[in-house]
Amino acid sequence: MATVDALKALYDFYDRFIHSFSFACGPGCSTCCSVNVVITSLEADYLGQHPALSDRQVQRQINAALRRSHFIPTMTTNRLARFCLHRQEPPEEQGTHAPGQCPLLGRDGCCLVYENRPFSCRAMSSEQKCQDDGEAVMPPFLYTINLVFYQLIEQLDSKGTSGNMLDMLAGNNGNRIDNTPFPGFLITDTEKAPLQRLLTTMKNYRVNKSHLADFFPSQTFQLE
Ligand code: SF4
Ligand code: SF4
Repeated sequence: MATVDALKALYDFYDRFIHSFSFACGPGCSTCCSVNVVITSLEADYLGQHPALSDRQVQRQINAALRRSHFIPTMTTNRLARFCLHRQEPPEEQGTHAPGQCPLLGRDGCCLVYENRPFSCRAMSSEQKCQDDGEAVMPPFLYTINLVFYQLIEQLDSKGTSGNMLDMLAGNNGNRIDNTPFPGFLITDTEKAPLQRLLTTMKNYRVNKSHLADFFPSQTFQLE
C-alpha cells in the first residue's frame, strides 16, 4: 500500500467535506497564494509529480522566489499539539511570513499544480473575499477540522520532514524540520461528537483495496 495513495484519499475526503460550505473562493482569486506555504515531505513528493514542475520557466520562478525572503517554519502541527496536550508552553515560532506571490500561480491567477496542491492550499478558504477584510473568515469548526487534517497528514509522514514548499521542492535540507508522530487531537468537549462522526466516516474511506484506518495507528480515529 503506497502512503501517497492515503494522502490522496485524505485530500479527496477533505475536498468532498468542504463542498458543503459556502465560500467566496473561486478561480482567479489568489490573495492567499503566498511564498509562505508549509508542506510535508510526502506532499512534496506528490506535488513534484505534477508535469508543470518540469517546465523551465516554472523552475526559474521557483528559484527566484527561493532567493527572496519566505517563511521558514520551526514548529510542526503535531509538535505544537504535543506541547499543548502536556500543558507545556511551546517555544515561539521563529519563522516570519514574507511578502510575495507563490511562484506556482499562473498569469491567469489560477494554480499551475491545482490537482496536486498541498493541504495548506486546500485548507485556505473564506466566507468572504480576503481582499475585503484583509484576512480569511472561516466557521470556527473548520479551523478545528483543518488542524485535524494537518495532524493526520503529518502522522502519515511521521518519519519525514516539513518545511516551506519552495525549500521542499528544491530539496533544501537545511530549512526542514522533523515531523512528529500524532500525539492526539486538540479539540474542545463540544467538538468531540461532530468530530467523532467525521472520523468514523473517514477511517472507512477507501484507499484502493484498503481503508484510511489501515495507514494510521489504532485508536487514531477513536476520540475516547
Ligand atoms: S482564501 Fe481568500 S484569497 Fe484565497 S481564494 Fe478564498 S477568498 Fe480568495
Ligand atoms: S501551490 Fe497553487 S494553490 Fe498553493 S499557494 Fe501556490 S498557486 Fe496557490
